[in-house]
Amino acid sequence: MESIWLERPCPISGPLMQVRKLSGLETAREISFKMVDFWVQIHHLPEAYRSESNIAMVSRMFHQIIDIDRAALQSQIYRKYVRVFVQVDTSKPLPDGFYIRHQQKRTWVEFKFEKLFSLCYYCGGIEHTRLECDQRRIDEENGIQPPTI
Ligand SMILES: [Zn+2]
Repeated sequence: MESIWLERPCPISGPLMQVRKLSGLETAREISFKMVDFWVQIHHLPEAYRSESNIAMVSRMFHQIIDIDRAALQSQIYRKYVRVFVQVDTSKPLPDGFYIRHQQKRTWVEFKFEKLFSLCYYCGGIEHTRLECDQRRIDEENGIQPPTI
């Protein structure tokens, strides 16, 4: 059971199986699974910005920071990305990244959610793709332009 906890969330043939530790005081109606814990890879963050305090600041884009992959952060070996373990509120669109100004240019820093196989790049929702997105279909029917980054 402990290995399931450590490996959360667990994709089972696509959909995620989320696990929660309960206090024992909740009723079945009170248990919510809208908060999901993910390891998030932060790609294209310049080396000079890869401090623990910067990673914690970036992680404020998510609901709550749980842990930082400090071993990878302190490694002398160059890595393509740094990792942070965060809790996200899946009832809100997931952030997919942000721009930073670096050496007089704008750089897109991209988030990749480990074990998340369906992310809608239209509305930011999980469990469906852009092609399956109801919001995109409704917006197109009403002539609404897609959201911009
Ligand atoms: Zn969508």
